[in-house]
Amino acid sequence: MASIPDRDYHFRPIGSFFDAGGAPGNFVGGQMSPHKEYVILTNREVRDLASKSRPTLQLFDEMVSWYGDSLTFSRQPEGESFVLPDIDEFGAVRLTLGVVVDGRAVAAIAHECLHLQLLTKGNPMPVFQVFAGESDNDRIKRHICFTAHGETGNWVGHATFIEQFRSMGFRDDEFLKSNAHADPADLRRTLEKDRTNSILAGFERGRWNKHYLCELLLSRMGFDNCLSATFRHGQEMFATMGADALLIQRWFDSGNFRDPKKFATTMNVLLRAIGFGEAQYGCLDRYSGGFHLIEPP
Ligand SMILES: [Zn+2]
Repeated sequence: MASIPDRDYHFRPIGSFFDAGGAPGNFVGGQMSPHKEYVILTNREVRDLASKSRPTLQLFDEMVSWYGDSLTFSRQPEGESFVLPDIDEFGAVRLTLGVVVDGRAVAAIAHECLHLQLLTKGNPMPVFQVFAGESDNDRIKRHICFTAHGETGNWVGHATFIEQFRSMGFRDDEFLKSNAHADPADLRRTLEKDRTNSILAGFERGRWNKHYLCELLLSRMGFDNCLSATFRHGQEMFATMGADALLIQRWFDSGNFRDPKKFATTMNVLLRAIGFGEAQYGCLDRYSGGFHLIEPP
């Protein structure tokens, strides 16, 4: 593995609305990264890592050519590799591909490039809009939904490109850093505790259904999962679990999410049904580096 020198310079992802004091504007992506500072990697350093797998190198080069200067790279000290979209002060989308440089780095680069490739095929990203005059509580609640929209889209993306990942020569155990997912009994305790939290109260069903969806996707991809335990606990907690589970299964089996043209509409059917409201989506514009909001049909 190429050794990557430690750097003494860092950058912060821009556009984090918490840091910006909630200035009105648009923010894209799914989740704010928990890490505020990254060590920059050059394109060349990431390319060297990718070059250990020919299909990964080819995909990496395609993505670099598509995104140009909008795509930058960083080294994550730990955790999962990621793609973090953000909008700069001029309205252009910037994407950061964060790599954990460990034994799984090549597979991680392939995985993140497959996320990037979905965007180039026209898959939209959730957009978070900050409005002037909104109360902090309302904004945080909307942000909880936005995070759920992003996480859900992320997992659905996995189900879309897992076969492509396999065909690149990778093993299933290289797909994610760890397939450790929340034990449904632990999640149940957390949700029960959160019922008294003024911000989180009311999201229990959505959070549970989101977990059920994740387990269903793992199961459909042929990965270890806790699908039946999640369903069993869910039935004890929510009268709607049976109907929700059926809807989620039918939604997945329709396969409509695999068509970029149908993605926003079909995701919003799911998100509304599982309890997180609809997302606002935006698509990348290749040449301007900006993005445009998708109008609801
Ligand atoms: Zn992923």
